[in-house]
Amino acid sequence: LRLPNGQESTILAALVIDCTGASYSGLRWLKELETQTSIGQNLERLKTSYNFYFVYGCFEVDILDKVILQLKKLLASAWNKSMDQIDLQAIQYVWSPESDYGRELFGIVRIVVHLACGGFGIEACPKTIKQLRERCLELNFAQLISEWVIDFLDIIEREELPFAYTTNRMPPAVYNDYFEVKGLPLNFIVMGMHPPSQFRVVKACMDAVSLGGLLASQRHKSGLSDDFAEQFFAIQAKRSGSLWDSGKLIDYGWDSTVPCTGEDLSLGSFQRVFSKHLRQLTLTDPHAEDVLLNVAQQCEPPTLLFAPSILFGCFWLWAKEKMGYNNWLQ
Ligand SMILES: Cc1cc2nc3c(=O)[nH]c(=O)nc-3n(C[C@H](O)[C@H](O)[C@H](O)COP(=O)(O)OP(=O)(O)OC[C@H]3O[C@@H](n4cnc5c(N)ncnc54)[C@H](O)[C@@H]3O)c2cc1C
Repeated sequence: LRLPNGQESTILAALVIDCTGASYSGLRWLKELETQTSIGQNLERLKTSYNFYFVYGCFEVDILDKVILQLKKLLASAWNKSMDQIDLQAIQYVWSPESDYGRELFGIVRIVVHLACGGFGIEACPKTIKQLRERCLELNFAQLISEWVIDFLDIIEREELPFAYTTNRMPPAVYNDYFEVKGLPLNFIVMGMHPPSQFRVVKACMDAVSLGGLLASQRHKSGLSDDFAEQFFAIQAKRSGSLWDSGKLIDYGWDSTVPCTGEDLSLGSFQRVFSKHLRQLTLTDPHAEDVLLNVAQQCEPPTLLFAPSILFGCFWLWAKEKMGYNNWLQ
């Protein structure tokens, strides 16, 4: 441990958790310990990585009192609600990139409003509200950006509301396959890190839940079981391993992604076609929408997506598209 005064101190630990995010310090610690594993010192072999080059600009707009009434009026009229029902703090609208439509996202989140615009392999994000509004008019999503968003941006621009602007780059997705390696210290585990673009904080939360469950299962023992780390990595590989596989295939839908070594972007093209039609289906089928939401939040198993009614709905949309029948929303 490095203390605030710069001195180093060593303490015995029952459990060491690497939760250092993108710095991947655990790999360095293991190397420094000269850990003898089934892959020797070549711990870098644990690591699989690809880069989806996701960048976005974020406007943190200070909503001054003078415009609150205007904004509430706009939203109440757009959403058919009374002004009392509009909670500016609860706003969360995100249009996410879909590989068949475009590579960009747009989102409005809460007041102080965060306006985010960017996407996969984007060279330059809008930096002024005017540029943002122009970009919004061109963006392509399965569900079009609502008209109230443009009016919302008009108010922000007209009233010259102050904002702080930042450009944010997402780090590459990395998967360290600790489960496959024998010889790791028995009290060393790794949580969180940077998974595919779809499942970022979700992965860290799932790992925390896995750790909590495992610790709870051993609470009557006097210490941790000898194979605690092994048990943890087994649970983690089962739960978040599937996140890696499915999330990666989504990120491979953009030609700006640089895939893992030995792979190419054609990997998962069937899954992407299925997923595209599934998303289309959710626009008209509340049951499919419900299932997709629960599966995406890890509340239900992904196998529910293969229910006959969902498979048939996707197949029907695919067949209509193949036949050039473009009126599928009806
Ligand atoms: C620009 C950007 C935007 C993102 N947007 C989203 C989003 O909208 N939704 C989403 O779900 N995810 C998003 N993510 C991803 C998300 O932030 C990460 O997946 C998540 O934070 C990973 O959690 P973690 O606990 O593994 O690591 P982190 O949250 O990175 O935490 C690691 C911590 O360990 C500390 N640390 C590192 N090394 C050491 C050391 N040697 N000793 C002590 N401390 C150390 C670091 O300072 C840090 O505080 C975004 C990431 C970035 C970069």
